[in-house]
Formats: sequence, C-alpha cells, structure tokens
Amino acid sequence: DRVKVARALISVSDKTGLLAFATALSEMGVELVSTGGTRKALSEAGLAVRDVSELTGFPEVMDGRVKTLHPGVHGGLLAIRDDADHARAMQAHDIRPIDLLVVNLYPFEDTLKSGADAATQIENIDIGGPAMIRAGAKNHGYVTTVVDPADYDRVIDELTRHDGATSLAFRRALAGEAFARTAAYDAAVSGWFAAEAGVDVPRRVSIAGTLAEPLRYGENPHQSAGFYRTGEDRPGVSTARQVQGKALSYNNINDTDAAFELVGEFDPARASAVAIIKHANPCGVAEGATLIEAYEKALACDPVSAFGGIVALNGRLDAATARHIVEVFTEVIIAPDADEEAIAIVAAKKNLRLLLAGGLPDPRARGRFVKSVAGGLLVQTRDAGVVDDLDLRVVTKRAPSERELADLTFAYRVAKHVKSNTIIYARDLATVGIGAGQMSRIDSARIAARKAEDAARAAGLSEPLTRGCVVASDAFFPFADGLLSAVEAGATAVIQPGGSMRDEEVIRAADDHDVAMVMTGMRHFRH
Ligand code: 5GP
Repeated sequence: DRVKVARALISVSDKTGLLAFATALSEMGVELVSTGGTRKALSEAGLAVRDVSELTGFPEVMDGRVKTLHPGVHGGLLAIRDDADHARAMQAHDIRPIDLLVVNLYPFEDTLKSGADAATQIENIDIGGPAMIRAGAKNHGYVTTVVDPADYDRVIDELTRHDGATSLAFRRALAGEAFARTAAYDAAVSGWFAAEAGVDVPRRVSIAGTLAEPLRYGENPHQSAGFYRTGEDRPGVSTARQVQGKALSYNNINDTDAAFELVGEFDPARASAVAIIKHANPCGVAEGATLIEAYEKALACDPVSAFGGIVALNGRLDAATARHIVEVFTEVIIAPDADEEAIAIVAAKKNLRLLLAGGLPDPRARGRFVKSVAGGLLVQTRDAGVVDDLDLRVVTKRAPSERELADLTFAYRVAKHVKSNTIIYARDLATVGIGAGQMSRIDSARIAARKAEDAARAAGLSEPLTRGCVVASDAFFPFADGLLSAVEAGATAVIQPGGSMRDEEVIRAADDHDVAMVMTGMRHFRH
C-alpha cells in the first residue's frame, strides 16, 4: 500500500513553511509543479519548478479563476494507476500522474474578518483548489493530499521513513482532513451568503470548527470531548490567551464563557464589574468603583459557593484584586488584560488558570447559538437584548427611586445570564441572593431569599441582605405568589418583562405593598 511520490503539485495561498517543505521535497527527488504565485515564490528561492500549464497545455486565465481546472490536472489526480483503462486514457491524452497534492485555499475566512466588500469576498471563493483537494482525497489510494502547512513536517517525516513513499493509512488520514477542510470552507461561504441575505434561519446549516484543544474528557470522565474554534473572533474564551495554569477542562470552558459573557454586559467606562460563576450560573455579581470593591461585593453574595469558582472581570486585573482573588480557591480568572504585578501574584498559584481576552464581549453582537437535541440542532440568534435599549414601563402607582432603578437595571442585566427560572435580589449594585434553574419561579424566589439570609449570617449581620433590595425576574410572574414571596423577603422594587394573563393581579399585589414595578417587554429565558 506504499506509493512512491515522484511528482507534487503545489498551489498555496498561505505560503507559510512553503520554502522549507518544497526544498525538502526537491532534495528527495520529487518533481515540483506549481501555479503562478506559488511557482514564482519557489523559483525565486532557486528551486526547479514547472508551471502547471505544462500539464494542461493551457495558460492561467481570467485573473486566476481558471488555473488548474483541466483534465491534465484532474486526470493526473483521479486516475487509478493500475486500471488498464485509466492507464490507456493517461497515455492517449498525455496525462501525467500527480502523487502529492499540496493546496491551501484562497483566504475566504480571513477576508471575512477583515470586513471586505462583497466583490472581494466573492473573488476569494476558491474553486480550483477545493476541486483538486476533493479529487486527490477521493483518490487517496494513490494520492497524498495536504491542506494545512502544519502537516508539512509530518509529510517529510513519512517520506523519510518510507524511502520517498507514503502509506495508505497516512493518505487516508490526510484525505479525511482534506474533506473536513473543504466542508469547513463551504460552511464559511454559505454562512456568508446567508448573512448577506439577512437570513438567520437558512434551509441548511453547516457548522465548522477547528480543534483548538483536545480535552481530557467531557462533562464527565466517561465522555470524550474537544474544544473547537469556529473562526469568529469576538473576544471570549475561545480567543483568550491562557497566561498560566492547568489545561482548561470542558466544564471550565463552559463556565468561563458564561462568566465572561456576563461581565461583558457591564460597560467598564461606567464602573468596574466582577462575576463569580459556578456551574454556568453566577453566585455573585457586583459593580464597584474599583475591581477589588466589585470583587468583595460579589464574593459576599455567596462566599460558600464561590469556592472553586470562576472569576470574570470587566477591566484590567490589578495587583490588589489579584491578591484578594488568590486567597479564595478559584479555578479560572478571565479578564481583558492584567498588570505585570497581578500576573506575578497569580503565578504563585500554579494551577490557577489566567486567561486574558484582549477585550470584552459586546453584549449587542450578533451571533449564532447552537444546541444539539436528539437527532437535530436548535439554532437561534444570540440573546443580544440589553436593558438600556428597552422601553421600561412603570406599571405601579409608585415609580422606582433613582437608587432602585439603578439596582433594577443591574439585576436585569444579571438575570439574562442565569438559568431559568431566575430570581435575582440586588442591592447597591450587587447581587444579594440568586435563585437559578428551578422548575418554579416561587422556588427560585425562596432559594434566593434563603441564600441572602445565609450570606447575612456568614457576615455576622443581624438583618437579611434582602431588606430594602430590588428583585429581577427573567420572565413574567404567572401569579402574584412569586412577587409576594419577594416582597416578604424585603424587596421594594421589581423588574420583569410582563405579559402574563394575570399582570393586573400582580400589579395590584405590588401596589398593595407600595412596591414599584417596571416592565421591560423583553424576556430573558436561558435553559
Ligand atoms: P498561486 O499563488 O499559486 O497563483 O495560487 C494559489 C491558489 O490558487 C491556491 O489557493 C489554490 O487553491 C488556488 N487555485 C488553484 N487552481 C485554481 C483554479 O483553477 N481556480 C481558482 N479559483 N483557484 C485556484
């Protein structure tokens, strides 16, 4: 199953590693054939390289749109070498076999990131490249197909070990990667067309990613897992630089994403903000004049749950804050950036992972959210709703005070990032009780109140932190009971989407207790 490599066709846009690779091939006696730009780069470096037009007897035409789309190339890639009929056709039409195909495609994905116009984007749709890749990979019985410069060393290694030949297992493995590459490429192209047409829900959806890191296991040790990058370069856990610490686990990545998306809601120009996350839900979120103040307030909400948590900050991690965070057992810290001194402080905790994202997530960014169900995918646009953009409606006799209003919008910002049913108690721009993921809203309200009592007890306070707080609910109160439970806990103002059949009853209950209520008109379910 070994196939000797005598002739290589090289046609690459990304010329990384090209010279070293082609030189090594040439030294092994491989004949090199290339398209215009690649040939120029190689011959300028002094390598002997033939032009692909020698295989086709046809020049490159139409600005390179047609370079290799010719039987002289595709016959050489697709011919079954030991099939008499194929051999006759090669002879009759002077088709020479291509044993090694090295192609990487026009940079359609990178062009997307640069925000190019439609004409540029279209010119960057590679046609001949994918056609050759598919041909070479289909015919992997004879052809070795390489689509990624990262594989060049592997190829030279293989050729060296097998005296200038490749094994079938090697070619088959590369063929699989080759088709994954063309599939991802077409996913990017079709995604661009959908976006251009403003179609959020296309008839077919392709999702492509590149393995960023194989993970030790998934949510549980008996599940396999990997972390894939989709190429979207919004600041976040997938683009952040890990400065130090153990490798991230599946759960770490999921939780860190939740943490960072949450602090992205808080504009650093207004205040510092910190979120502490456990199991994808916050156990404390706060705004403060400084990061350390915000961290202390966030931690006070539920210091017990914060143990082993993930801390996200909306500003540059400073030394004082870092010093405080490392006092509490923490799994991950993520921030846009960090001071050198802060990095040194974190370094004392070898396992603690520090991620620097270079920026904050934009809560209003468009994006796609994908979830798998048995036999299908659920796809939706990202929840880009921000409370500042909503038309808040006061529905009670009493309007919220300025202080209550600030706490209400703070709490609603947090509620968007908490699993439903969600009840958030907040006071002085800090959560004081969070009820998450319960099957009834009233249970969430009770849990949030109990957490606030626990936190008060832990802090040695005589009265619960919910006294004089506000409450946010991610969806409407179906009955007055949830609201009354919050009032009983001490809430004086409420924010919720509204829209229940019993809104009138809920409003009346609020009025009866002199509670101010604001309706947002936008629900923030998160399941
Ligand atoms: P070069 O820089 O060598 O002139 O061009 C290399 C690029 O051309 C590669 O990215 C390759 O995929 C692409 N390519 C090769 N043949 C064709 C073709 O026939 N049509 C188009 N559109 N692209 C091609």
